[in-house]
Amino acid sequence: MAKPKRGKSVNIIKNWRGTCPRCGRTGAKLLWEATEGDKKMKVCKVCDAQIRNKAS
Ligand SMILES: [Zn+2]
Repeated sequence: MAKPKRGKSVNIIKNWRGTCPRCGRTGAKLLWEATEGDKKMKVCKVCDAQIRNKAS
């Protein structure tokens, strides 16, 4: 399964467009699940990268 977060495969996931709880960007693709503290949330691509960089 190549590029699961792009193109046609995105259509399988419903309600993925929304406001990112972390950066507040509207109409963002919320396809990434991030855990910050003890909260689990759906975040956008940008926030996912930021959280990943912080964790490593
Ligand atoms: Zn975000």
